[in-house]
Amino acid sequence: MSARQPTELKAFNTFGISACADHIATATTIESLLSLWQKAQGKDQPILLLGGGSNVLFTENFKGTVILNRILGINIQESDTAWHIHVGAGENWHELITYLLKQQVYGLENLALIPGNVGSAPIQNIGAYGIEFKHVCEYVDFIELKTGNSIRLMKNECEFAYRDSIFKHQYKDGYAITAVGLNLNKAWEPILTYGSLAQFSREDVTPEQIFYSVCEMRQSKLPDPAIMGNAGSFFKNPIISVGLAQKIKSQYPNCPQYHHNENSVKTAAGWLIDQCNLKGYSIGDAAVHTQQALVLINKGNATGKDIITLAAYVRNRVAEKFNIFLEPEVRFIGSNGEIDAVECIS
Ligand SMILES: Cc1cc2nc3c(=O)[nH]c(=O)nc-3n(C[C@H](O)[C@H](O)[C@H](O)COP(=O)(O)OP(=O)(O)OC[C@H]3O[C@@H](n4cnc5c(N)ncnc54)[C@H](O)[C@@H]3O)c2cc1C
Repeated sequence: MSARQPTELKAFNTFGISACADHIATATTIESLLSLWQKAQGKDQPILLLGGGSNVLFTENFKGTVILNRILGINIQESDTAWHIHVGAGENWHELITYLLKQQVYGLENLALIPGNVGSAPIQNIGAYGIEFKHVCEYVDFIELKTGNSIRLMKNECEFAYRDSIFKHQYKDGYAITAVGLNLNKAWEPILTYGSLAQFSREDVTPEQIFYSVCEMRQSKLPDPAIMGNAGSFFKNPIISVGLAQKIKSQYPNCPQYHHNENSVKTAAGWLIDQCNLKGYSIGDAAVHTQQALVLINKGNATGKDIITLAAYVRNRVAEKFNIFLEPEVRFIGSNGEIDAVECIS
């Protein structure tokens, strides 16, 4: 039998980084996911679960099996006050929102056009335009791959925080999310706090208007990964001490700052990068987007290493100017699995 050829991952990550995996397989059921995992384990190979590949940076070839989670299914139940939706982890997030809108099930409009799979949404508690996944989550189902045991965590057990959850920590390695449960209030309440949503009046705005408005804002602001490789916001918005926030504000009155808690303030990573005049700055084919400083792009043939070099440069420049150390939101994948993104760019 001939040796299996390594498989190109370019089409499986929105950064469009060219890297190979030893093997790529698709899981459409929990059983096939478990069996693929056991097969790779048996060969002592590292395993990487992948949804839409919109939050990963391949830093080199992956020397193992990539399992694409494609467990599908949408089941809608209702109570007097809410819709309860059980969704397979392999469903596409944006297509789910479009489908629910057609069923007149509302509440996810603000999260339209976020790329990726439903099963990845809880991991970094995706958020946009005033809503985070935690606001619509009822539960998350996952399996322990070693034993095949199913576990359900209710929303309050998931430790959701800004771009964070228990699935980045305690349940990170050796676990696969298989489904999520959503709870959407039948008494729909528009959230109009961000961007051009503020133009609408609460009294007569429709969910469809919000949906199309969010899609329009995102399409006008963010590069389309199908045209220009990227993984959305490359860095998290930093949370800084009130003291540092005040110091920056006294020098830069326009610095965006949002209340986080009584001791800390969230500021905008994109604004900090822009103040360092880095829009358009490039290293090889890796560049800071010309309109969105928070987005690093692959102009064609950037390697994972080029993106790392650029990210390190951006981080250093921001640290020199503001004494703030940016941390990547994107997950870095090395030859054996996830590697420490902060360490890579420090
Ligand atoms: C243009 C663009 C815009 C974006 N805008 C936003 C935004 O507004 N808000 C936001 O929060 N994010 C945004 N993102 C980031 C990204 O879309 C989200 O993080 C998304 O949830 C990632 O989903 P995915 O399926 O592509 O995850 P992947 O990139 O495939 O995986 C991400 C991580 O989760 C792990 N993983 C994947 N599936 C499973 C599973 N079933 N079980 C266990 N682990 C798993 C992977 O191993 C990896 O470590 C954007 C990205 C792009 C490219």
